[in-house]
Amino acid sequence: MSDLYRKRLAGKVIVVTGAARGQGAAEAQVLTREGARVIATDVRPEGDCRRLDVASESDWAELAADLKRAYGHVHGLVNNAGITWRARLEDVHAEDFDRVHTVNVTGPLLGIQHLAPLMPSGASIVNVGSTAALTAHYPIAYTASKWGLRGLSGVAAMELGPRGIRVNTIHPGYIETEMTASAAPAFRESNIRETPLGRTGTVDEVAPLVAFLLSDESSFITGAEIPVDGGLTAHGGVKSVSDALRAGTS
Ligand code: NAD
Repeated sequence: MSDLYRKRLAGKVIVVTGAARGQGAAEAQVLTREGARVIATDVRPEGDCRRLDVASESDWAELAADLKRAYGHVHGLVNNAGITWRARLEDVHAEDFDRVHTVNVTGPLLGIQHLAPLMPSGASIVNVGSTAALTAHYPIAYTASKWGLRGLSGVAAMELGPRGIRVNTIHPGYIETEMTASAAPAFRESNIRETPLGRTGTVDEVAPLVAFLLSDESSFITGAEIPVDGGLTAHGGVKSVSDALRAGTS
């Protein structure tokens, strides 16, 4: 490797949740390549992953104690773990609504509460939202949880800012992972129709943004929300109108 290339995350200790597969696995890989000491965690661990259920306070407490002992500090946290539940408004059961909220919102809260005390000035937290956090996406439990995560992120950015800790949120669009593979084909097709780039995204198109937000290159960015969605949320829902009225079709 060229001497001119400095690894952007050299020496940083970074925790990634939901890192056994999908976006989290890709993030762990890119962060490692950038020089970070990555602690990959997942409730269904594989390979080098540590078992951690983001909804479990004792799992977080154990991790924090181990990291304190091993490194003394933590420079980064990626709250990536998440689940979906595709029931609609009139069908969703309260226990499913609560279960999704617990993983997608309480999980990141617990992660921040347990790891922020170990974070020095310059540390960075990335929360993984969704375009569902910016729209009225139909799976109500998922959508409400991701909107909730935005609130958590904003408060965390404000509360931790004075300590020099940054908190940002990314909003992936349709990314090809196990999560999206479990949806009906119409879900994929309609997302592609609403996406100006006209395709789905890959995990490798999300992970570099996470690496940037964890690095010192983004040192004045906090409280930001960045879509990685091929333009889906940028058109505000009027793409189908524009497409329908293109020359030759109107
Ligand atoms: P995925 O299902 O492939 O991976 C999610 C990972 O999280 C899995 O390894 C799973 O075991 C883990 N996980 C689930 N519950 C957990 C828990 N309680 N504790 C710890 N780990 C847990 O999905 P993905 O697409 O890689 O999703 C990653 C994140 O991106 C999620 O927050 C998801 O909501 C978000 N997201 C995904 C998409 C998409 O299109 N795939 C779009 C927007 C946002």
